[in-house]
Amino acid sequence: MRQLTFVKPGTFELRDVPAPQIKSATDAIVKPIAVARCDLDLYIATGFVTYPGGAFAFGHECVGEVVDAGDKSGVRPGERVVVPFQLSCGRCATCKRGHMNTCEAYPFRAAYGLKPMSGTEFGGALSDLMYVPFADHMLVRVPQGLDPVSIASTADNAPDGWRAVADHLKARPGASVLVVGGAAQSVSLYAAAAAKALGAGRVVYLDDDAVRRATAQRFGITVEALQLKDRRETAKAKRGLGRGASTEQFDITVDGSGDPDALDFVIASTAPNGVCTIIAIYFTPTTPIPLSKLYSKGITIITGRVEARGHLPDVLESCAHGHFHPEHVTSRVVPFSEAAEAMTDPSPKLIFTNDWT
Ligand SMILES: [Zn+2]
Ligand SMILES: [Zn+2]
Repeated sequence: MRQLTFVKPGTFELRDVPAPQIKSATDAIVKPIAVARCDLDLYIATGFVTYPGGAFAFGHECVGEVVDAGDKSGVRPGERVVVPFQLSCGRCATCKRGHMNTCEAYPFRAAYGLKPMSGTEFGGALSDLMYVPFADHMLVRVPQGLDPVSIASTADNAPDGWRAVADHLKARPGASVLVVGGAAQSVSLYAAAAAKALGAGRVVYLDDDAVRRATAQRFGITVEALQLKDRRETAKAKRGLGRGASTEQFDITVDGSGDPDALDFVIASTAPNGVCTIIAIYFTPTTPIPLSKLYSKGITIITGRVEARGHLPDVLESCAHGHFHPEHVTSRVVPFSEAAEAMTDPSPKLIFTNDWT
């Protein structure tokens, strides 16, 4: 079968590899229909992030159709499913505790299309077929009426944005939300979209990138340039006047910037007893965090990899009810046959549709 293979930054090859086959009663084989480009994929494709080791199968946000299924896979050929990017068994103690991103049955950070993360090749989504073990647990059916192109990112980045706000809004309905976008391009936008969908009060999205700002405008929220330097000068002047908090305070804050200065601003903008989720990946070994601010304001800080499978049912349900609109984040739809060339397009979210015959 065909497999889009990452060879080196800027170079992809369509390679011929053995097609996967059912090995166990709980296995399924899925043919990708729509595949989204993860925010991390862009950085791998351009060489901004490099990993040792050779070529590997690419693509890991997939909605597809089951084409073969074991007797105990819980799915049947013809059904449309989302394939969560992380592999998990749903049976081990860690999965049962809800931590399916660190399943005991797989190497740490096991995922499709990201061999360097775990050291094991699980295949990629930009392939003719994907092998899905523990399909009875892994696969989640696409609700009736949802377009695979609209929801391709529910395999990873969409739930990543969702988790930054969903549980906190449940605990504090109507809370105010600040999202600062940046390196985690689409995840930040999904977080802003999810905040709106989940009934947050004031939602503010800040980003210096005009394309992402235009995207965020689609959610009916407040969108402004970040302009960190100006904001800091204003804050300093206000402090001088003794007006207490020097920047607007939000109950729930989300840092998708990947910029330590912006992160510092996000923390300064988190209200006392608020919660700040860092969805951006900081690639440097250490990043400055103002612990004194966190301590004195009682701010909870959360970071870590998304629990894609865990949040998937809620995300899809919200999409099916017309509340959450991941399709508003999509910047470009590209056929599989042009995926290799399009992979380094800097726009926030690419969705690849399977035109291979
Ligand atoms: Zn990803
Ligand atoms: Zn497990």
